[in-house]
Amino acid sequence: MAKTKYVYFFGNGDADGDESMRADLGGKGANLAQMAKAPLSLPVPPGFTITTDVCQEYYKLGRKYPAGLEGPNGEVAKYLAKLEKVMGKKLGDEKDPLLVSVRSGAAISMPGMMDTILNLGLNDKSVEGLAAKTGNPRFAWDAYRRFIQMFGDVAMGVEHAKFEKIIDEVKSHRGIKQDTELTTDELKEIVSKYKILYKREKGEDFPQDPQKQMWGAIGAVFGSWMNPRAIKYRELNGIKEGALKGTAVTVMSMVFGNKGDTSGTGVAFSRDPSTGVNEFMGEYLMNAQGEDVVAGIRTPQKLAQLEKTNKKIYDQLCTIRNRLEKHYHDMQDMEFTVEEGKLYMLQCRNGKRTGAAAVKMAVDMVAEKLITKEEALLRVEPTQLNQLLLPQLDPAAVKKATEIASGLNASPGAGCGQIVFTADDAVAWTKEGKKVLLVRKETSPDDIAGMAVAQGILTSTGGRTSHAAVVARGMGTACVCGCSAVKFNGGKVVIGDHVYKEGDFLTIDGSTGKVYDGVVPVAPATLSKDLEKFLGWADEIRKGSVRTTASGKKVAGFEVRANGDTPQNAKDAFRFGAAGIGLCRTEHMFFDEPKLTSFQKMIISDTTEERKENLKAILPLQEKDFYDIIKTMEGRPVTIRLLDPPLNEFIQAHSDAELKALSKKLNVNRDKLAEKVAALDEHNPMLGHRGCRLAITYPEIYETQVEAIALATARLDREGVKHNVQIMIPNVVSANEVKQIREQALAVIEKVNKAKGTKLKFEIGTMVEFPRAALTADKLAEYADFFSFGTNDLSQTTFGFSRDDYSKFIDSYLKQNILAEDPFTTLDEDGPGALMGIAEEKGRSVKSDLHLGICGEHGGDPASIALCYKLGLNYVSCSPFRVPLARLAGAQAVIKAAKAGKAAKKAPAKKAAAKKPAAKKAVAKKAPAKKAAAKKAPAKKTAKKGKK
Ligand code: PEP
Ligand code: MG
Repeated sequence: MAKTKYVYFFGNGDADGDESMRADLGGKGANLAQMAKAPLSLPVPPGFTITTDVCQEYYKLGRKYPAGLEGPNGEVAKYLAKLEKVMGKKLGDEKDPLLVSVRSGAAISMPGMMDTILNLGLNDKSVEGLAAKTGNPRFAWDAYRRFIQMFGDVAMGVEHAKFEKIIDEVKSHRGIKQDTELTTDELKEIVSKYKILYKREKGEDFPQDPQKQMWGAIGAVFGSWMNPRAIKYRELNGIKEGALKGTAVTVMSMVFGNKGDTSGTGVAFSRDPSTGVNEFMGEYLMNAQGEDVVAGIRTPQKLAQLEKTNKKIYDQLCTIRNRLEKHYHDMQDMEFTVEEGKLYMLQCRNGKRTGAAAVKMAVDMVAEKLITKEEALLRVEPTQLNQLLLPQLDPAAVKKATEIASGLNASPGAGCGQIVFTADDAVAWTKEGKKVLLVRKETSPDDIAGMAVAQGILTSTGGRTSHAAVVARGMGTACVCGCSAVKFNGGKVVIGDHVYKEGDFLTIDGSTGKVYDGVVPVAPATLSKDLEKFLGWADEIRKGSVRTTASGKKVAGFEVRANGDTPQNAKDAFRFGAAGIGLCRTEHMFFDEPKLTSFQKMIISDTTEERKENLKAILPLQEKDFYDIIKTMEGRPVTIRLLDPPLNEFIQAHSDAELKALSKKLNVNRDKLAEKVAALDEHNPMLGHRGCRLAITYPEIYETQVEAIALATARLDREGVKHNVQIMIPNVVSANEVKQIREQALAVIEKVNKAKGTKLKFEIGTMVEFPRAALTADKLAEYADFFSFGTNDLSQTTFGFSRDDYSKFIDSYLKQNILAEDPFTTLDEDGPGALMGIAEEKGRSVKSDLHLGICGEHGGDPASIALCYKLGLNYVSCSPFRVPLARLAGAQAVIKAAKAGKAAKKAPAKKAAAKKPAAKKAVAKKAPAKKAAAKKAPAKKTAKKGKK
């Protein structure tokens, strides 16, 4: 076997590696190699990169290097010798020292997270050589003091503040403020004090041997891969431990921007990273070293200024900018240094950008023929689109704000207002013209009015699919939930050591889950023409897509619909480009008066007749709701789900006062009402009397809803308005439920057709929300015209995790890597995903073109959308504000699947066969139903009140 190559050289017009080697050389090393060699051939200071394989080995071997790297005959020595030859100088030479920087760089850029050491090779002798050679002793001693400080701090762990204290003392003694005012003698004094500090802290002299310095620095950079900052960064950015091999280390000859007025250093972006405008921009400082720009000690100048002061360098930079963009086909973030009038490129990488900038650049680059539409669509992170649709906290204001707690980032956007603790107060205060933030332990459906007017919602319990989260996302209202730091105490909330009473201001960021003290200003959102064009491309791609599922069925197209319960939701859905309404939850319609009172009376009815009588009052009101929604969607599909939540959610009385008020409102005896409320109470309502089980016991409820749907549609039909309505049955576990409810619905529709002289026909389908429904999908398909996967309940019942209570333990599961993802955020392929695969295969074995969709919260999550595409679903449905994200994520799934398909065709047949799709595997494996049943916990133990 060939010996592994650990070190790659670059510079002098050539390089061993190139940009394709990011995984081995890190982004920095790979791009330096690419810039150094033809065709770019840019001025890059020569150097070499030690691969990420070494980092991996270093940790495997207990922080030791693999054989062949160290020592006089090792690879590093060989490439250092080559570097010295190219540069015509020796590392740390007494007369004319070669100085190097030692820099980190992983395959994915982690700005500022790992370590860098500059000016390495200086010691008590070479500093004099440098001073003599450059004729600039001040520069030489400044470089030496910086090196001791960086090496001491970064490589050897001497506290940074201790160095700063020394420099501050010297400055204050002389009464100066800026480092640049220090004289050569003062710098010499600082160097000697630094060395004393170093010896005191480390018990040995500051290393004079350049080899010792270099290996110390290399070790420090590899060590920084595992520093807490870098670990946290990977955790926050979803970079799984083990996904990368580690950091590479680049040893690069130094060029100096601090050699006087013809030298300088800066950073530049080939386009504006915050707006995306195609304008060269950046900042630089003359007579400075890289860290001065970043540290903000001196205020840098705008790049446009360089055009006036040094046109030659500016023009050179412009040429490089164009060449780099043409080469990388993306916006570049560059670092450069000018040493005595000569320009050097120290780094380039694809620049980070805001959502707005990402879309603008993608659209512009297609127009400039720099990239294809497909490439443009892959350029933008779907979640970045959220920034374009919702009000966001002003980033500059966030920097100054006081963060007091954080919870789950349940619904994006910013919310700021005076806090109130009840939905009624939210409504009342809003009527007085105040902006409120609703703070609750949790929310329930009867908080809806208050939630609708609030600027944001903050709850102390509940997860991402809790009522508060689902409803807030539907409304496009910012929400932070499961924020356990929020403690209710009498009429106040305590958050850490802050106490807030009603009327005090708080701000939440639903995109990050953070909670801030007081008012943090909000920047309003705008919808751009670029975004519409961009999403139009996404729609084309999804529309034209065709794939074969694991069960061998060809499925064309992949739509995005919206979950929406009100005409306003329908309008938002329409505005954001939804192809229809995939889930209209009818229960939310019963929380408005006067429907609520009639509904409550219906619930406490003693007889069927009484119940039917109360339902009669609801019928015209429901008809109006349906009429408005169906009309708004102008002939696009509207899937209306029949009543789903347990009845006790509509009638709650937690105190005597509430009971008294309710008995007065409903005009019933208080004791009788108390009995009814108690009878409705359930230990575990989420698994109780809800969904179609209500219609099995009280068929008249669904019959009334179907009648309202049919009457609304008949009216629109007569008015010549287009309509396309589906009726959906929730919480199904047996084909017999579907058969019976379908027959009852068809009878009602027939009755309306006769009465109104119409010929209405509705597709009647079912939700698949429980394992038994998925496992008996072939039987369901006999009576169902379509399936919609309710993956909130399907995840809840597959995992056995309560969607209301899992926030208590999910963080521990994620931190300890027991689960890779939150199953209520990202659809789990092995659990509910496998059941969906079974349902697809079984359902389509009975009806080959059975229409399949998803309406659980996962319908707005990019990874879940990709899985839905793979499983052969016809559409995903998500809250209106996530529709643009889903339109893009769906298109990305299509493009990536096509790419993977092409790659698999090229790959040898054996490899492709080994990669069987998950759904197929799941069918073959058979679910271990018996085992699961045997493990059932006693009902009492798991008893827990749940809310929808
Ligand atoms: C689901 O369970 O995924 C679903 C959409 O229904 P709900 O969230 O209303 O229970
Ligand atoms: Mg459900």
